[in-house]
Amino acid sequence: MKKYKLQNTEVDSIELKALAVSRGMKVDKEVYRRFSETCRLDMNPLTCNCFVLSDGTIVQLTDMGFHLKYLSGILSWSNLKLLKYASQLTTPFSLRLSGDSPALFYEDECVDIVSLPPRTDFYQRKTASGTRFVGNSVLQGLDWVSFQCLWPCEYAASGKPCEFCFSGGDFETLARKQKPLPAALPAPDVAEIVQYAAERAGVSGVQITGGSTFDGQAEAEHIRAYLAALAGDDALRGKLKELLLYITPPSDRGLIDGYFELSASRIACSLELWDLELAKTVTPGKVAYTTRERHLDVLTYIAEKYGKAKAFSNFIIGIEPFESLREGATYLAERGVLPSASVWMPMGRPVRGNMTPPGVDYYRRVKELFAELYVKHDLSPPETRGLNVCIERDIMRYALGE
Ligand code: SF4
Repeated sequence: MKKYKLQNTEVDSIELKALAVSRGMKVDKEVYRRFSETCRLDMNPLTCNCFVLSDGTIVQLTDMGFHLKYLSGILSWSNLKLLKYASQLTTPFSLRLSGDSPALFYEDECVDIVSLPPRTDFYQRKTASGTRFVGNSVLQGLDWVSFQCLWPCEYAASGKPCEFCFSGGDFETLARKQKPLPAALPAPDVAEIVQYAAERAGVSGVQITGGSTFDGQAEAEHIRAYLAALAGDDALRGKLKELLLYITPPSDRGLIDGYFELSASRIACSLELWDLELAKTVTPGKVAYTTRERHLDVLTYIAEKYGKAKAFSNFIIGIEPFESLREGATYLAERGVLPSASVWMPMGRPVRGNMTPPGVDYYRRVKELFAELYVKHDLSPPETRGLNVCIERDIMRYALGE
């Protein structure tokens, strides 16, 4: 794995990715001017830009200048309150030109010449029913399409959003203002977006994601409709290697069996944090309504019935102490559940009044731990080029010595 110099500190690609994702960066206007016509690089934060390190590692590109303007443009009190944390959101990273190429800088030193994915007109498109792709879906890295939140989060609307979740904060604000929650995205729209992403952007992985719900049957109706719409198109199914579901763990396990019958590749019931006392504050709805027990029950059910790494649980990397993260990731891995790792982006929302991410040592320990668990328990994340913010595929490459 390639090494880089950040002044006097040597880091590898995973550590560099975690630092850059968690701190965001400034993007020189010249980079937009030179590359936004030919590459997937847009000033709209909803497009979730990324860049590719010279060894192929995918990295989320959050332009802090636009991100702060975006926050201030959203006229809700809860979002405006975030601006008081703006001083914590300084970053040493920037994307600038080095000769004719985009390059990642740390302070004023060039760290790596990077590349940007090729441009498509994905973000300019609408579905046949008039739904805009942008704001509902994002291309991630070179082979993923993801949906921000296909159905609303009822836990957030009930006043218990996860502290780090931007969508959850929006649902809570809508509910507090007694405004209706948006309807779930219709299945034909989802199929159309995925079809376009597969044909024009080379996508082979799909993340089906929605909010947490009180009624497992109602959530299941959405999920079944999405899976049926995707499975009904043979040519499309042939192009998709990974179809990931992120669900509220249902009390009826039969629903899980139905999802696998409809071609789901893997199912996540994400705990986000292992430290239960911390989780009560940071993920209050998940702890109070779904409960830790049901999460673990459904995850182990999937692993026992469908095999290793068919169940996975995301952890937000950087919020809890390393020791409790290690305990949780080990507990799951020993039971055949893949612990996945998504780098905390504090610029989304403060957690317990804090927007300061951990240092490189924390990320290094996480990398070593997860690599050991993946090898020891034979747990393999999806074999794609990687996601913008998640690092499990990058860690697997490290574990395999690639
Ligand atoms: S349950 Fe999911 S969608 Fe709802 S606030 Fe938490 S992370 Fe966001």
